Amino acid sequence: MERLLLEQATEILLSHTEKITACEEISLWDAVGRVLAEDIYATRNQPPFSRSPLDGYAVRSEDIRGALRERPVRLRVIDEVDAGHVTEKKVEPGLAVRIMTGAPIPEGADCIIGQEDTDYGEDTVEIYAEIKAYQNYCFEGEDYKKGAKLLTKGMVIGSIEAGVLASLGMEKISIYRAPRAAVLTTGDELMLPGEELFPGKIYDSNLYTCVTRLKSWGVQVTYQGRAEDDAKIVAGHIRRAAENADILITTGGVSVGKKDIMHEVLQILDCQKLFWGVQIKPGMPTLCALYQGKPLICLSGNPYGAAVNLELLIRPVLAKMSGRYDLAIKRIMAVCDSEFLKMSHVTRYVRARCADGHVKIADGSNDSGILSSMCGCNCLIEIPAGTPKIEKGETVCVVML
Ligand code: AMP
Ligand code: MG
Repeated sequence: MERLLLEQATEILLSHTEKITACEEISLWDAVGRVLAEDIYATRNQPPFSRSPLDGYAVRSEDIRGALRERPVRLRVIDEVDAGHVTEKKVEPGLAVRIMTGAPIPEGADCIIGQEDTDYGEDTVEIYAEIKAYQNYCFEGEDYKKGAKLLTKGMVIGSIEAGVLASLGMEKISIYRAPRAAVLTTGDELMLPGEELFPGKIYDSNLYTCVTRLKSWGVQVTYQGRAEDDAKIVAGHIRRAAENADILITTGGVSVGKKDIMHEVLQILDCQKLFWGVQIKPGMPTLCALYQGKPLICLSGNPYGAAVNLELLIRPVLAKMSGRYDLAIKRIMAVCDSEFLKMSHVTRYVRARCADGHVKIADGSNDSGILSSMCGCNCLIEIPAGTPKIEKGETVCVVML
């Protein structure tokens, strides 16, 4: 099979990816990062009453016309109203109500004079300035009016949207079900953290990298496990995992070695192979298939290869499945503060850190088996195939993680 370009591989995967349409109700507390499954209309005005934007006195603008520090207007204070309370009193000519920020404006008043333009009087108050009608006056419904469309089905809910939903008094909302993923790492050498490390073994880092990254994208990981290099056993795991997953992800065993069992696994499971090999470094040998119509994406076991392919190939699939457009791959241009002298015949991804329009390549090795030098990185520099070198000060394309 010929190796595909990343764009071709992505297109094939996306053409086999369905957006999840099943909905569920969740608490507003859990809504951030979820996709709204209903249009949201305002069921009330916000604010529900006209209110004061400052601490001062609710007055009639007519009464304080011409007021100056040298020529104050004196009004009788008939009540005091704090936020969360109401007054039944009406502001008739010559009267004022002491009012605090957020309190409903009493009937009769058409403006609020800030306390700094008064003598802070209690029984009577001296007003030192004039203001116009409806100055310092927050209108009922000025945020939104009853019936207004506030949020649209398909929107990704962030903290602000959660705040708007809360302002409506909603505590449960309807969202699309999150994608469910199964993650299986393969390799006779793998031990889990907490186990004793025997000769020839290594700890399984891919399981942690993949599962935690998927969770950070709002994916529900319904299966996670490790299996030895035995095609039948791995096939069994995948068969079981698939019962409760929309996407299946494995690491290890996709190259051309004797123990690269994933090819046999695909046969045992009677999968429809989509492609094997993408023209990118790291993670060239990625193998993709459909098992019972579900994407089965088999990543290289090399930790950096697995991490990069999770971002480049799997993330777009999950973005489409979930409707999380905010997960789409973001590329930006930045000035490279490092040099990179190796040429590659395929597109290469170099771990780096980007801030303020500048990007710096991580210290240490960029080899696919090396994970630790990726700590603290927030992006990958994308170096097109055949680029002879990157020099300091050159503008490069950066994939944000
Ligand atoms: P493979 O893709 O199975 O040929 O593995 C490539 C390299 O990655 C080997 O050195 C493996 O030991 C290592 N490797 C495979 N799986 C993992 C894993 N889950 N965690 C850490 N390293 C791994
Ligand atoms: Mg292996």
